Amino acid sequence: MSETITTHPVGMSPTGTEPIVNPGVRQAAGASPGGPPSRRHPTTSNEEMESRGGIHLASLGQIVRLFGRALRLHCPQCGGGPVLQHWLKLRVRCGTCGIRLERGEHDYFVGSLMFNYVITGTLLLVTLAVVLVAMWPDVPWTWFQYGGPVAMVAIPFAIFPFTKLLWLAFDLMLRPATPEELEWHQRSTTTWSTERDASRD
Ligand SMILES: [Zn+2]
Repeated sequence: MSETITTHPVGMSPTGTEPIVNPGVRQAAGASPGGPPSRRHPTTSNEEMESRGGIHLASLGQIVRLFGRALRLHCPQCGGGPVLQHWLKLRVRCGTCGIRLERGEHDYFVGSLMFNYVITGTLLLVTLAVVLVAMWPDVPWTWFQYGGPVAMVAIPFAIFPFTKLLWLAFDLMLRPATPEELEWHQRSTTTWSTERDASRD
């Protein structure tokens, strides 16, 4: 891993001749919500090169479009597809725009677990609240006793591909894919998502 870091620390001029006002900010900017990783040079041959764009909050219309596409199981980037290999596995790349669905990054979809957990918990809590209010005092506790654990296991599988694409949409909302990044995805001839995956094939 010897890629050239091309970003300039916050507070330093592009020429690097001025002092760093607050070098600590640089680390914060590279931290993730699963998050924006450090940007690296796009011409490196390293398949783990990460998105080059900085943090950027999309407009409301763009956000609705990104998440709407994910909820329809389409590619958040282009709205096309196909993006699913099967229900529990995404294809390496979108069949339309060619973006690698893990953006070439290790452990990219760890963040989707958060979406999965939050959505599962919310669905169960809302269901519990609605049934409690609607049926009080004749609440079917036995149903909860057995149905709750079953739902807790079943729901994560039922929403699995949605949460992965929602995570990609969330990432694209903060780090839009630049034309250079898309070109890099399309140019890659690999059939795996990240360099680490290569050893498994
Ligand atoms: Zn696409």
